[in-house]
Amino acid sequence: MKGVSVMRSRFKYKFLNTTSPILPRSELTQLSRVLSDDEILRYISERKRFDTSKLRNFNPKPIKGHKKKIFEIDGVDGTKFKLFYRENIKNPLDFSVGLLLVREDTGEDFVLRRYNGKSHRHKNKCPLGKEFVDFHIHNATKECQEKCDHEEDFAVITNEYSTARQALDCMLRDCGFNTMQSTLFGGF
Ligand SMILES: [Zn+2]
Repeated sequence: MKGVSVMRSRFKYKFLNTTSPILPRSELTQLSRVLSDDEILRYISERKRFDTSKLRNFNPKPIKGHKKKIFEIDGVDGTKFKLFYRENIKNPLDFSVGLLLVREDTGEDFVLRRYNGKSHRHKNKCPLGKEFVDFHIHNATKECQEKCDHEEDFAVITNEYSTARQALDCMLRDCGFNTMQSTLFGGF
């Protein structure tokens, strides 16, 4: 089982971060300063300079069964971010839409939030929770950086969306994007 999770996380970081060398997560963590929960929240709320109407008709070409897209984004305070979108073309419940911080200290991607489908089991380790299969939002925490494999291991169940596009809507709304033009994909 351990081998499986290592492969998964390698795949994830390979996909999310195409420019940095692939290092084991433990090494990356040692190089990076732990961000406080307040800092994480500040990055999430920093206003993003991004024209969300670009997303209205975007339809990435499927590669190996997934529609994927990454947008590079500037925050108004000069922070660099990335928005990523991944959707399994065969299984509409398998998707992940998220916001990454490009760390100034290491240049690494740091996952601030991920809005996931309900295609896999999730169990919080810090703090310890019950296993569930449901739509869920991962959130970076100080505790996870210190004790878990990934900074955003902690997740909460949500009923805010049930499709990848609706998850994207929620992410834009929650994470400092200008969504004046109301919902793009009809969240509920
Ligand atoms: Zn998950």
